[in-house]
Amino acid sequence: MTPIEMTAKGAGMISCNSCHMLCRPQPLKNNQKPFCPRCGAALHSRKKNSLSRCWALVIASSILMIPAQILPITITSALGHTQADTIVSGVIYFMHTGMWPIALVIFVASVFVPFSKLLILTLLMLSVQLRWRWRPRDRTLIYRVTEIVGRWSMVDVYVVTILVALVKLGAVATIDAGPGAAYFAGVVILTMFAAEKFDPRLIWDAMEDVNE
Ligand SMILES: [Zn+2]
Repeated sequence: MTPIEMTAKGAGMISCNSCHMLCRPQPLKNNQKPFCPRCGAALHSRKKNSLSRCWALVIASSILMIPAQILPITITSALGHTQADTIVSGVIYFMHTGMWPIALVIFVASVFVPFSKLLILTLLMLSVQLRWRWRPRDRTLIYRVTEIVGRWSMVDVYVVTILVALVKLGAVATIDAGPGAAYFAGVVILTMFAAEKFDPRLIWDAMEDVNE
């Protein structure tokens, strides 16, 4: 196991969440909260209520995932013929018509990535809560990847709607976002916030207790 060096928390110091200055919080009167002497932001040793906020967002996002996958995401009408497509039926449509690269892009962007993000965040939170000692460095890496992928999450919504529109759009066709699209956007936004709320330092806090 890697030896743990001294941490700011262990030294009684707090890194400012907004300007990253390392501060030693001064004892304050009247229940005042410590603040950063440089930028004035409130100081928290770890992101405030990180786990409960992250859990709330992950659970809400998982609930929205159900209508996002079941309800139609696009409604195409051409010459009096209307067709509603869910994400999965869109993927199957593109596979059947031989456009498998598009099927793959839609599958990765709107099924694989969002589901993986929810699963990874759930596992990370469980690992912190149950104080797992299993490979903290890898868990931190997984978190970082999730966060980086999360920055591109807004692309998901565009990928699905634009690709479906571009390919299926005939000469006289109209394409509308189905009710599933709003839920899907909700999933994307909530998972982005969930990843931001998780504090990866919690992974290492559990390791520190082990070394003591
Ligand atoms: Zn600051």
